[in-house]
Amino acid sequence: MPFSFDNTYARLPSRFFERVSPTQVSRPERLAINDALAASLGVSIEELSTPEGVEGLAGNRVPAGAEPIALAYAGHQFGRLVPRLGDGRAILLGEVVTGDGRRLDVQLKGAGPTPFSRGGDGRAAIGPVLREYLVSEAMAALGIPTTRALAAVRTGERVYREAPLPGAVLTRVASSHLRVGTFQYFAVRGDVEALSRLTEYALARHYPEMCIHEGPALGLLDAVTSAQAALVARWMGVGFVHGVMNTDNTSISGETIDYGPCAFLDTYEPGRTFSSIDEGGRYAFANQPRIALWNLARLAEALLPLVDPDEKRAAEILTARLERFGPRFEEALAAEMRKKLGLVTAREGDLDLGRDLLARMHQQHADYTLTFRRLADVVADGDEAAVAELFDDGGAFVEWAAAYRARLASEPLAPAERAASMRRASPAFIPRNHRVEEMIAAAAEGDMAPFERLHGVLGRPYDDQPDAADLAEPPGEEQWSYRTFCGT
Ligand code: AMP
Ligand code: MG
Repeated sequence: MPFSFDNTYARLPSRFFERVSPTQVSRPERLAINDALAASLGVSIEELSTPEGVEGLAGNRVPAGAEPIALAYAGHQFGRLVPRLGDGRAILLGEVVTGDGRRLDVQLKGAGPTPFSRGGDGRAAIGPVLREYLVSEAMAALGIPTTRALAAVRTGERVYREAPLPGAVLTRVASSHLRVGTFQYFAVRGDVEALSRLTEYALARHYPEMCIHEGPALGLLDAVTSAQAALVARWMGVGFVHGVMNTDNTSISGETIDYGPCAFLDTYEPGRTFSSIDEGGRYAFANQPRIALWNLARLAEALLPLVDPDEKRAAEILTARLERFGPRFEEALAAEMRKKLGLVTAREGDLDLGRDLLARMHQQHADYTLTFRRLADVVADGDEAAVAELFDDGGAFVEWAAAYRARLASEPLAPAERAASMRRASPAFIPRNHRVEEMIAAAAEGDMAPFERLHGVLGRPYDDQPDAADLAEPPGEEQWSYRTFCGT
């Protein structure tokens, strides 16, 4: 793997990570390689596809210039603090600077045990690897900040979960792997020097433009608050449920990270969860903004010692800062909703109009993605029936549409132009859970055709693709069993 590595994290103090090599696997085989992403990292799909390339992607050989490390971090998991988590099955090979100057981490996920494995096997199964590959690439195509997938390879070995499963390794690319939990790791140890170093590092890497006259800690908290508010608003706009918004899965860069039991809504159910371990619904769709704020509060707590020697005073300052999340999120969400409704001006009552539609969708079990997508057709040619049929009682939509039309009348915009802008805001294609699960089942049997097809279609989510109409549809009853499955 001829990457030009330029590693900065491995230069940080040694307590930030553990040096560890990937564990060899018996029979590595390519599953998927991301051509476009490889090119942006300065390598070609041909280079990655050679036997040596695949060996590198499986962790069997460490490429020149890599300095493999497992990163230390802590985290609140479902509200409970775990002081030492760390990369238990992921190994950072190093960083690559792209042609346009972006510094990216290249990490192998599922590359064998590390000092942070806590009894785990350090491995990943083919299902979660391909789910993360497909969903993270779909998010990227939707224009939502996310880690990326460079490659997936089989290991030729089994991993043992509830049943034996084929093992795989994902090569993940991220703006960094800094998490809220990275800060917590040093905070719980009272290691203020490391906290300070980490804060400077994070600012330099992600938010160099942040004015730090008020101090790096406040500058960082402010930047991460904005990034998370913007990110979660985008999730809400496409019906994405992350599933495990623990603080160790909350990135400092504002990218979606650690795709586990994630899924997109089919019917609009604000209380929907997909993770079998999330019994209390902590990470339900509609809870995500609240949880993002909760996670930011944990970041603020970790930063306390950097803000003021008087802890009470520091807490007051940070608490005041956290109050910026609410307005920023509301503004981002309102902008998202306006785009989905095709509104180019901001009027009082717009949010209520949107909320009214959502309430009706909820009551009437309407499909989230299709409702908004077909709303563009209502605008273009007045075809209300195609949306109404998504509602148990179509009348609930028709009634709302009358108020909607009245609102549209106050904006002079050609219907075709408005419809086109709406189609750029509301995708036709999302990775529907039942399709993702079908793809995984096929891949486990050695058939990658469903993966290839889904991947291709999801690469252009805002385009109508008549040949792929079946992939736009919600699950039918025969696919119902695939609706709720989720694993990591
Ligand atoms: P996740 O739920 O994937 O975000 O992981 C939470 C924590 O558990 C992280 O510290 C992971 O590194 C660790 N972990 C998850 N799966 C494994 C595994 N199979 N072996 C070792 N550590 C793991
Ligand atoms: Mg994680």
